[in-house]
Amino acid sequence: MYKLIDGKLISTQIKDELKQKVADEHIRATLAVIQVGNDPASSVYVGNKKKACEYIGIGSAAYELPEETSEEELLKLIDELNADDDVNGILVQLPVPKHIDEKKVINRISPLKDVDGFHPESVGNLCIGQEGFVSCTPAGIIELLKRSDIDIEGKECVVIGRSNIVGKPMALLLLKNNGTVTVCHSKTRDLKTICKRADILIVAIGKPKMITSEYVKEGAVVIDVGIHRMENGKLCGDVDFDDVKDHTSAITPVPGGVGPMTIAMLMVNCVKAANR
Ligand code: NDP
Repeated sequence: MYKLIDGKLISTQIKDELKQKVADEHIRATLAVIQVGNDPASSVYVGNKKKACEYIGIGSAAYELPEETSEEELLKLIDELNADDDVNGILVQLPVPKHIDEKKVINRISPLKDVDGFHPESVGNLCIGQEGFVSCTPAGIIELLKRSDIDIEGKECVVIGRSNIVGKPMALLLLKNNGTVTVCHSKTRDLKTICKRADILIVAIGKPKMITSEYVKEGAVVIDVGIHRMENGKLCGDVDFDDVKDHTSAITPVPGGVGPMTIAMLMVNCVKAANR
């Protein structure tokens, strides 16, 4: 019988712990959230981030800029927020419109306020094992594993996906936790054989239900990062949950697995930013 890893429950526990900490230590923090354009999915994410701030008792300031905002205007706003002592964390909701260079935006946010953990300095710190902000989704996956009593040390860990926001930082965090890590991508040969070796399989491909039981070793832990809306309106992940679940010892559902952890870890980073 597999264990369902309940990301909703674990993320609520984390937010409750933060709420207590914020109250006990009288922490004052403000997260600035910038959204350029009105992409409906981005608006939902931004709304959820504001709600999470309210829940744990910190402030949030929303900057909703029109689609036609120039790169220069956006960078100027980031400079102002970098210089504002009342703002502890800055987040630009991605993706930004095509006429704005995402890299320039990420690089402009002060590393001291980089609560998304995307700045090259944050990534570099993670890489060499120094203190810094860590990308929220992979950090959330480590918390899911730890709080579900799943040991990483010495385990064969396979990550499918090498994006800057999920796959690469995921691999670094597993390594930091003494896992033996393999990273796969679209050019990997014989993906199934490599995945079949995994004690812990982390899937961040962006392809609905691609991972079936043929990729999974009996008793493996499977973490599904993917999120897709199907034609029937329901959500699914990169893993074919129904096909895979009975072959695992533990698995995350979609929704209710990795998704809620991303926001909880953003709140962890906001509180950390206030303490820095
Ligand atoms: P990207 O599209 O940036 O990266 C996908 C990765 O998967 C790439 O490295 C790509 O390889 C690899 N890949 C694509 N096809 C294959 C294949 N057939 N075999 C092996 N590898 C393949 O996606 P993200 O990392 O940003 O996100 C991954 C998924 O996670 C998406 O569904 C996204 O929506 C979701 N997500 C969910 C979050 C959450 O909070 N739950 C947060 C962030 C993302 P290559 O590099 O060679 O192109």
